[in-house]
Amino acid sequence: GQCVLVCPTGALGERDEIDKALDYICDPDITTVVQFAPAVRVAFGEEFGMPAGTNVEGHVIAACRKIGVDIVLDTNFAADVVIMEEGTELLGRLKEGRKPTFTSCCPAWINFAETHYPDILPLLSSTKSPQQVLSTIAKTYLPEKQDIAADKIRVISIMPCIAKKDEAARPQLGEAGKQDTDVVLTTREFARLLRREGIDLKTIKPSSFDNPYMSEYSGAAAIFGTTGGVMEAAVRTIYSVVNGKELDKVELTQLRGFEGVREATVDLGGPIGAVKVAMVHGLGDTRKLVEMVRSGEADYDFIEVMACPGGCVDGGGSLRSKKAYLPLAMARRETIYNVDRKTNVRQSHKNMQVQALYRDFLQAPNSEKAHHLLHTHYEDRRKDLRHTVKEIWDNLSMSS
Ligand code: SF4
Repeated sequence: GQCVLVCPTGALGERDEIDKALDYICDPDITTVVQFAPAVRVAFGEEFGMPAGTNVEGHVIAACRKIGVDIVLDTNFAADVVIMEEGTELLGRLKEGRKPTFTSCCPAWINFAETHYPDILPLLSSTKSPQQVLSTIAKTYLPEKQDIAADKIRVISIMPCIAKKDEAARPQLGEAGKQDTDVVLTTREFARLLRREGIDLKTIKPSSFDNPYMSEYSGAAAIFGTTGGVMEAAVRTIYSVVNGKELDKVELTQLRGFEGVREATVDLGGPIGAVKVAMVHGLGDTRKLVEMVRSGEADYDFIEVMACPGGCVDGGGSLRSKKAYLPLAMARRETIYNVDRKTNVRQSHKNMQVQALYRDFLQAPNSEKAHHLLHTHYEDRRKDLRHTVKEIWDNLSMSS
């Protein structure tokens, strides 16, 4: 990092994640990498009084550079990699007749499954989330491509999500006690950091990504930020893998909507044929759907789960309005769909930087190397739940 503004390190007694991020940015021996999630660019402008759904991707990049971040990467790039890994995994399972497969990119959903329904954990995709995929690749692939010492890299991620902090701290997602993602800032915290550094997002001149290895993204990655987006992105790529050609119509409107649970049948063609998919958002509806899968009442091949109603565009780390929930989420999601429409490449497998990553580094989706770096495992954590309930009880009895 190279601090270009007054560094507050040491000036404050209270240490929090913002200080930790700034410490890295200000340390000349450290190479700081920032990544930000698909949903951040459409929800963050509101923190600075911009209208809901304003696309501030370029503003965020410029702000990161202004505070001294060395490399600005896009979590969207990793979303494309996730589709390559998860899509291949799903296809393999479909061929074996194993179903359903649940998506794994929402950590609040993973926590919920581990603490409430550990019997379904084998059904979850083993692919890491985009946040974790990006951090891992930034610390392995990037040092091979650019002249940076891997152990000097620190990844700071800006997320619309509080659960991403827990995810980053999972022991499965780091090596030798070191986290792959070093600091997670929610969009709210990032806004505080910028204000503290005297930066107004509204007046900053937007910039663009410049990393030649890990910043390009497809329209499919952009829509990860909204409910149904991961499913749509996956279908675009799986269809192409199965049929050797692209879908005629890439916008799968039957997968879009705002109902708590949506289901659809998608014809993947070839030997796979029609598959039944479901998209659920909000943990209340998720519980109902999981119960139906466990009882055999629901018969799906692929299920996308997002814990926050609306998906990450209305994530727990962003500005939220109880009264205006739907209009805000709709405006943010519309911008995301527009980003998809405007990108030249709308399928993850057509992202040239993703193709280079596989050609030069990972070999193939689900290769041994890809498995080692980009997949994870889950644990039965019912005991944590009991522990938490006990703690709550103890606290209650102590205060009474
Ligand atoms: Fe985080 Fe919510 Fe998105 Fe899940 S849906 S990844 S909890 S913001």
